[in-house]
Amino acid sequence: MSRILIIEDELSIAELERDYLELSDFEVEIETNGETGLQRALKENFDLFILDLMLPGVDGFEICKRIRQAKNTPILMVSAKKDDIDKIRGLGLGADDYITKPFSPSELVARVKAHLSRYERLIGSGAQENEVIEIRGLKIDKTARRVFVNGEEKAFTTKEFDLLTFLAQNPNHVFTKEELFTRIWGMESIGDIATVTVHIKKIREKIELNTSKPQYIETIWGVGYRFKV
Ligand code: CA
Repeated sequence: MSRILIIEDELSIAELERDYLELSDFEVEIETNGETGLQRALKENFDLFILDLMLPGVDGFEICKRIRQAKNTPILMVSAKKDDIDKIRGLGLGADDYITKPFSPSELVARVKAHLSRYERLIGSGAQENEVIEIRGLKIDKTARRVFVNGEEKAFTTKEFDLLTFLAQNPNHVFTKEELFTRIWGMESIGDIATVTVHIKKIREKIELNTSKPQYIETIWGVGYRFKV
């Protein structure tokens, strides 16, 4: 549930706004003083602010500026004077929208919903983006540690995944088996470079159409391997 803070000194207006927003399933808090409103806006987590311009304590201009310095939460500014709205626009304080009083509650709710969904898309796109390497039909999702070949998921062990990812991240670079062993297994590991050969063979069986003619991991005879792009 989205949480909204209304900073408005005319309680009857604030309550009207709250009632309509609550009907649309928003959680709404009211602050009638600029100073306490600003403090709460900075300290607590709200998803949107509805901010009146003329307030006792600190005015809406200052509150908008101070919130913007700290967060990207949408701010909807409200004023009784059209001239003030023009003034705020001109100042570029970073408010997302402006409404002149009197406004219909349904218009307010519509604008709140529009700004919240736009903001959620913005946040979501950043949080959900996985780091992916895509080369021809091969897709390596580094975040989810999953590998797909022509859309079909293949099961990889941890070391197979690490080895494939390392090679794919350094395309056309030839690595010796010793280098790969050190990189993936570490100096202190028990084992030998034959482990690398075994893992390359297993990876090829999963990603190559024809393991005798590899399209991705190429053997450089007498040296090692490279990932072809
Ligand atoms: Ca006011």
